[in-house]
Amino acid sequence: MKILITGGAGFIGSHLADALLARGHEVYVIDDLSTGSIENIKHLMDNPKFHYRIDTIMDMMLMSDLVKVVDQIYHLAAAVGVQYIIDNPLESLTTNVRGTEIVLELANKKKQKVFVASTSEVYGKHNKFPLSEEDDSIIGKTKISRWSYACAKMLDEFLALAYYREKALPVVIGRYFNVCGPRQSSRYGMVIPRFVKQAMMGNSISVYGDGHQSRCFAHVSDVVEGTIRLMEKDDCIGEIYNIGSDEEISIEALAKKILEKTKSKSEIEIIPYEKAYEKGFEDMMRRVPSLQKIVDAVEYERKFDLDSIIDNVIKYHKE
Ligand code: UDP
Repeated sequence: MKILITGGAGFIGSHLADALLARGHEVYVIDDLSTGSIENIKHLMDNPKFHYRIDTIMDMMLMSDLVKVVDQIYHLAAAVGVQYIIDNPLESLTTNVRGTEIVLELANKKKQKVFVASTSEVYGKHNKFPLSEEDDSIIGKTKISRWSYACAKMLDEFLALAYYREKALPVVIGRYFNVCGPRQSSRYGMVIPRFVKQAMMGNSISVYGDGHQSRCFAHVSDVVEGTIRLMEKDDCIGEIYNIGSDEEISIEALAKKILEKTKSKSEIEIIPYEKAYEKGFEDMMRRVPSLQKIVDAVEYERKFDLDSIIDNVIKYHKE
C-alpha cells in the first residue's frame, strides 16, 4: 500500500514510517520540521520505498497532489508539547485545526482511510480513573493556553466523526497518552527526555508543581504497533481509542528513578507551575487510560515497561 504520514519526521511519525516500511508499504512523508527533525528520517533516505517532502500541510495544492497518490493517510502533523503550545498558541491552533480540515477534505475525494492522532489532553482535568473513551471532557477556561490544544484536538475529532457520519469517510481516531522513547526531543517540554538530559548533564531536575501529579508513559514502538493494527481492521472505523500505558508513576518518583538509573548527582528542584508555564496554569493530577477498548479491538499489548522505556531513552541520549 502507498501510505502518507503527515508529520512523518516527528517523533511518533518517524517511528511509524519505520514500522510501515518494515511491513512492506511505500511511505510518503510531509513535515515542515517545526517540531520534527530531518535526523529522525535520515536513515530512511536511501530506501526506494521512502519519499519525503519538507513542506507544510497548510498548502492545499501540494497536499492535494500528495493525497491523490496514496491509499491511506496517518495524520500526525500537529503542534505538540504543553510548553510549545503555550509559547506558540496561534500557530498551534491554526495548524491543529486547519491542517486537519485540509487532510479530511482531500481524503474525502477518494475516500482514503485516515488515522487522526488525538490526545489524552481532550479528557481535561478529570478526577475519574481510569479514563475511558466514553468519559466527558472537562476543559478549563480560554484564558489558559493549555486548553487551546485540548479544544483544537476535540475539534479534529468532531470533524473526523462528521466526515465519517455524513460522507462515509473511513476514519480512526487514536488518543495518545504520554508517548516517549528514542528521538523524542526535550525541547518542547516532554518530561522524560528533559529529566534524562538534565540528569546526564548534571543540571538540576525541574520538577513542576509538587511532583505528586502522576502519568503513565508508553513506549513509542508499542504505540505505533497499536496504531497500525487499528488502521488494519475495518471494525475500528468511526471509533476512538486510547493508546498508551496504564503503568502509573508520580513525577517526583520518576525524577528519582531517572537520577538512580543515570547515577547522576543532580538535585531535584521544585518549580511552581506558574513559573514553569503561565499564570493560572492547571495540571492534571492523575492521568491513567483504560486500555480495554484497544485490547479488545486489536489485542494491543505493551512490550516495554517503564524501566525499559527509561533505559531506552538514556541509551539514546548517550549515543
Ligand atoms: N513536568 C515536570 N518537569 C518538566 C516537564 C514536565 O515536572 O521539566 C511535569 C508536567 O508538569 C506534567 C508531567 O511532568 O505534570 C508530564 O509533562 P509532559 O509535558 O511530559 O506531558 P503532559 O502530561 O503534561 O502532557
